[in-house]
Order: sequence, then structure tokens, then C-alpha cells
Amino acid sequence: MAPNNPIYQEAFSKYKDKIIDGRLISGKIESGLYGRVLGLKKKGIIPSVSVILVEGDKASSIYVRNKELSAQRCDILSQKYSYPATVTERELLNKIDELNNDTLVHGILVQVPLPAHISEKNIMNAISPLKDVDGFHPLNAGKIFTGDSPFYPCTPYGIIKMLEFYDITVKGKNCAIIGQSNIVGKPLSIMLMNRLATVMSLNIFTENIKGFTRKADILISAAGKPGLVDGSFIKKGCVVIDVGISRVGGKIRGDADFEGIIDKVSKITPVPGGVGPVTVSILMENTIKAAELLK
Ligand code: NAD
Repeated sequence: MAPNNPIYQEAFSKYKDKIIDGRLISGKIESGLYGRVLGLKKKGIIPSVSVILVEGDKASSIYVRNKELSAQRCDILSQKYSYPATVTERELLNKIDELNNDTLVHGILVQVPLPAHISEKNIMNAISPLKDVDGFHPLNAGKIFTGDSPFYPCTPYGIIKMLEFYDITVKGKNCAIIGQSNIVGKPLSIMLMNRLATVMSLNIFTENIKGFTRKADILISAAGKPGLVDGSFIKKGCVVIDVGISRVGGKIRGDADFEGIIDKVSKITPVPGGVGPVTVSILMENTIKAAELLK
């Protein structure tokens, strides 16, 4: 169902055939999880995810709320631990240690970004790889190369699921990814390579970026620059996956200039209602997997 957002509603009614509907896919993923939750419950296991939130970043609080709501829908226990922005790295590490040793906790995630005085690397490395439902621990991230990570990072894995849902083949296709972060761009590059795509990995220093994106059959943008991807980036008929989330004048916008490129694309994810909801439901899937693996 389309939320009460004019851009989203218009996109859904006017460009129905071109929309990759993240809410629809997320709903399907969540309903596919009920049986697994039930199976665990029959064995006396209540799947549970613990979320650590350092307050201060408004967007992070919204993302954590969305995760809590998804957990409720999936009948997964979610526990939130909120800390003020002045929290020390040691305090967070102590909490992670406690959660690592709590047999009733299956998944742990620390919402990023963290304040500058805390090392995200130290925090991610401290989470048990068996409870690393965000898939950021170096052991799990490394296993993306070989295709056997227990927990694939939620956004890139969600993108793979979205492409699969709409029968968009990646094998042999030119895929351009704008952004090389550890949480989206880099893991997605590897995951697409593992599926035999030809991958162009682009960043802010890439010279003549449009020379790459215009060759793309599938263009994924995770730059966080609203409106960056305009018509001049697009090859006609290309699929656009818009990962970007930016707040502009009180509204959420993606990296794509949606109205400017809709006539050229064959499919596109809207923002909101695209990659975001699928990312959250993959987190639930990973939590259930963690519970199944720990049983
Ligand atoms: P980041 O902010 O860590 O890095 C941005 C990347 O984009 C860098 O590699 C940078 O070089 C590149 N970049 C920036 N501007 C560019 C430009 N003009 N041309 C080419 N490359 C450029 O990345 P991130 O943490 O992956 O986040 C990216 C965006 O995706 C943000 O808007 C974030 O909010 C969003 N995001 C959304 C979800 C979701 O679930 N939908 C999940 C994660 C991140």
C-alpha cells in the first residue's frame, strides 16, 4: 500500500509498470518468515534482535523505529538500548559483550553513524560473527567473496532480492554502482560479480562518471546526493535502483531525479518505498537465520 506521500502515490499510479515496489517485496519477505518463526517457537526459541542506538542522529532514530515495527510484524522480539551522544566506546563495547554472551539474544546491531569519538570499526569487530545480523563483521564481510557469508549486509542483499523478484537478470549485464561504502557499494559489487555481472564501481573521484553509467543496464546509486542521477546518466531502458536517502525541505529524496529519468528507464525504485523497506525485512530474515543457526 502506498504511504500518504504525494511523490510516492503519483509514482505508483502514473508509472505503475515501471515501479519496483519495495513495500510489496518487503511484505512478501516478511510473510515468508512466519513459518520459520513458528518453527523456532515450537522449539521454545523466540527469535530476538538487540539494537543499540546512540541518540543524536534523527534519521537513525527513524530507521530503528522502522526495524522495531518490522520485528513486531514478524513476531520477533526486539530490544532497543539507547545511549546519549556522550556515551564512551568502552560503554558500548561492554554492552556488546553482554549481548554476545546472552543466549536469548540472536542478533545484535549497532545503528550507524556513530559519534566521531567512537570507532565504528572497533564496534563492528566486537559483535559476535554469529550474531552479526547486519553482516558488517570482517569475518562475514570477507565471506561475501566466496559467497558463503551467513549474513549478507541487508541493503545489498535486499537489492539482489528486488532484482530477482522482478526477474531482472544480472548475469552478463553491465552494472554501474555509484558509491563504494562498506555497507552498500562494496559488498554489492562483489555480490553482483558472484552472479556474473560486469561491475563498474564508481566514486566521487571517478572521472567522466557518465561515461560509465551510460553503459549500464542496471544503475545502482548509493551516493546520498539528491537528484544526482539525471537523464544524462542513463542509457535508455536501464534499470535504476536508488539507494540514496536525503532530506530536502522536509521530504525524503533519493539520488535519482525521478521525474527527469522515468521516461528513459525500464524499471526504477521509488524513494521512499523502494530499497528502504526491503533492507529492514532482510534484517528480520537475518535475525531468524541467526536464531536457527544458534539453536
Ligand atoms: P557513504 O555516505 O559512506 O559514501 C558515499 C559514497 O558515494 C562514496 O563512495 C562516495 O565517493 C560516493 N559519492 C558521493 N557523491 C558522489 C558523486 N557525486 N559521484 C560519485 N560518487 C559519489 O555511503 P552509504 O553509507 O552507502 O550511503 C549512501 C546513501 O545511501 C545515503 O543517502 C544513505 O542514507 C543511503 N542508504 C540507504 C539505505 C537504505 O536502506 N535505503 C541503506 C544504507 C544507506
